[in-house]
Amino acid sequence: MTIAATLAASPGPPPADLLARLRARADADPVTHVERVPARAGEPAPWPDWAADELRAAFARRGVTAPWRHQAEAARLAYAGSHVVVATGTASGKSLAYQLPALATLLADPRATTLYLAPTKALAADQLRSVADLELEGVRPACYDGDTPRAEREWIRRHSRFVLTNPDMLHHGILPGHAQWSGFLRRLAYVVVDECHTYRGVFGSHVAHVLRRLRRQCARYGRTPVFVLASATSGDPAAAAERLTGLPVTAVTEDASPRGGVTFALWEPPLLPAADASSADARPDGADLAPVRRSALRETADLLADTVATGVRTLAFVRSRRGAEVVAANARRALDEAVPGLGDRVAAYRAGYLREERRELERALLRGDLLGLASTNALELGVDLVGLDAVLICGYPGTRASLWQQAGRAGRSGQEALAVLVARDDPLDTYLVHHPEAVFGAPVEATVLDPANPYVLGPQLACAAVEAPLTPADLELFGEGAKEAVDALVEAGALRQRPTGWYWRHRERPEVDLRGEDGAPVCVVESATGRLLGTVDGGSSHFLLHPGAVYLHQGVSYVVDALDLADGCALVHPEEPDWSTHARDVTSLSVVSVRSYVDAGPVGLFLGEVDVTSQVVSYQRRRIATGEVIDTRPLDLPTRELRTVAVWFTLSPESLAAAGVEPADVPGALHAAEHAAIGLLPLMATCDRWDIGGLSTAVHPDTEAPTVFVYDGHPGGAGFAERAYGTAAAWLRATRDAIAECGCETGCPSCVQSPKCGNGNNPLSKPDAIRVLDVVLANLPS
Ligand SMILES: [Zn+2]
Ligand SMILES: [Zn+2]
Repeated sequence: MTIAATLAASPGPPPADLLARLRARADADPVTHVERVPARAGEPAPWPDWAADELRAAFARRGVTAPWRHQAEAARLAYAGSHVVVATGTASGKSLAYQLPALATLLADPRATTLYLAPTKALAADQLRSVADLELEGVRPACYDGDTPRAEREWIRRHSRFVLTNPDMLHHGILPGHAQWSGFLRRLAYVVVDECHTYRGVFGSHVAHVLRRLRRQCARYGRTPVFVLASATSGDPAAAAERLTGLPVTAVTEDASPRGGVTFALWEPPLLPAADASSADARPDGADLAPVRRSALRETADLLADTVATGVRTLAFVRSRRGAEVVAANARRALDEAVPGLGDRVAAYRAGYLREERRELERALLRGDLLGLASTNALELGVDLVGLDAVLICGYPGTRASLWQQAGRAGRSGQEALAVLVARDDPLDTYLVHHPEAVFGAPVEATVLDPANPYVLGPQLACAAVEAPLTPADLELFGEGAKEAVDALVEAGALRQRPTGWYWRHRERPEVDLRGEDGAPVCVVESATGRLLGTVDGGSSHFLLHPGAVYLHQGVSYVVDALDLADGCALVHPEEPDWSTHARDVTSLSVVSVRSYVDAGPVGLFLGEVDVTSQVVSYQRRRIATGEVIDTRPLDLPTRELRTVAVWFTLSPESLAAAGVEPADVPGALHAAEHAAIGLLPLMATCDRWDIGGLSTAVHPDTEAPTVFVYDGHPGGAGFAERAYGTAAAWLRATRDAIAECGCETGCPSCVQSPKCGNGNNPLSKPDAIRVLDVVLANLPS
């Protein structure tokens, strides 16, 4: 049973009235656009002939009397042996599309098996319940992941015919131990890849090769299983699924499930009055005074408090874990001020929480004790929570696909719901709330991954070689770049070539982390008690857990005493100072090679490899109430080296002078253009600005010209810079428009300031950035 089914009925006001009530609070109307997404009637299809009565009866017990047309179509294709991806909206019933063919096959052939992959353990556990509840004889579904007790593992390998796991377990456990799994793999009929749009960037590229390794082992045991993939709505899902699996895949994209109507508002927090602007919470120092908007976090917290006070069951999506804590805390405070005790009906929910804490929050929501949740996108993958009355999206979630997935949580069947996108003070968000056609009219973006990344391919081929010697036929399976990667492994002494193939030479297996070079998550431990509070991913740990950092957990504030990178843990103690902390880093970059370039007269556009060296060197303490900088303190953290892919453009000094950019303003012009360009890249590729980095300089030693670099923040690149290079004219046009259309005078976080600038947003020149981009666009072929 889904949580939605048990939500107490509390209809609340109709969405249009609710929206009117919310926007009436502000002096200036914060709503820039309202889109009505109409309700849709469902289109059922008959059960396929091959679906046994027993299976239909089991689904009927769950309340499914007939499949929707898209479910039936995907199931038909899969049952007939075609690899298929079903890419439809949230709550469109994608699980039936793979459960139907897989379970029908398992019932018809008592030996057949199915392997199900989810990106998270929570989702696999959710799906296990869903399959187990069908109570089908002889299927014996079971989760097999890091939490599975040793004693149960052998039983599962021998007896379960529907094994649910994740790519990490497939990579670390199942494939290396394939001999123990030979009975299962020999009978494998289906591989289900759920939420396959989450396999993007470096992680996606790794998973692509894990799936190739799985196909290779199946082939050795004489099987060619059918792949059934499920994806959120995404651009060209068939191509993404083909890149992921290396197989031809048919896409089913027409959603035939019923949907309640949604009133979708775009919301821009107001500019603060000038007197307040100097004391705003989000103000980076070092820049000229600029109008600053009310922060999206505060705005969302107020909206959440208002909807909860109206009795409307609301989910607020906040991009960062820290942000979710802040929104929940502020909403609680506001509600308690209105009615003491009412604040208890709001909580924060995020991935870093321990399992028990998350369960407790889910239960509280089930009981109806909670009316409002502020969550990171952990919920996207965690629980089957749909049918809310309102969804608040604090900041564009990075992709239209995620936006629709989050908005899709709103709307119980037959009821209208409200969705609100609250813009952050950020170039992309600002662009989107003023260009609704880019939100509602554009197709969702394609999922970007790059299996040919040598930093992924080499380690994955090493893993494959341990599982079984590599043969020339395998090179074709692993695709572009595989031969070069094998040669490099031979040269490095890791592989030895023999007449029968390439053999792994070492005793130990290679250590390969699918989640990229960023490494294992860092544990946050309370010094006094040894209690594990949660985890932070390795890549963010230098920024969030440096000594002295203020770390929030479930509304409680902690200060970091020490960060032990060798042991992967940070020691903290509870403390609530009245400042927040903001880490700073310094970066340098050198060009290694040029892969491709466009010679456009005074302008050059390049794609190539670069080496980036960066170090978190200090942090600022800022008063929470006023944003005032208290001090800047040095840090002693190691540098991080990154060989990656970058896109960069150069301009001749003459062209800049002709456009009216004074030599003294060139650094500020390029720096401002760089910030905005990074902010707008997510419009073109499924990344966010934290996945990419930038550097600009009036003369770079490698290009000998004024240059702006934008690079992938992952070793070997993740495909983002490549995508930027391929769409450069459109990308830089949107960048130019975003800057030019911003209402500020000298630059603000909505256009050219960046929250992650290592130079304190100094120097920046907004008008000169527009001149720089005009020169580039005038010369670059579109
Ligand atoms: Zn601005
Ligand atoms: Zn900067």
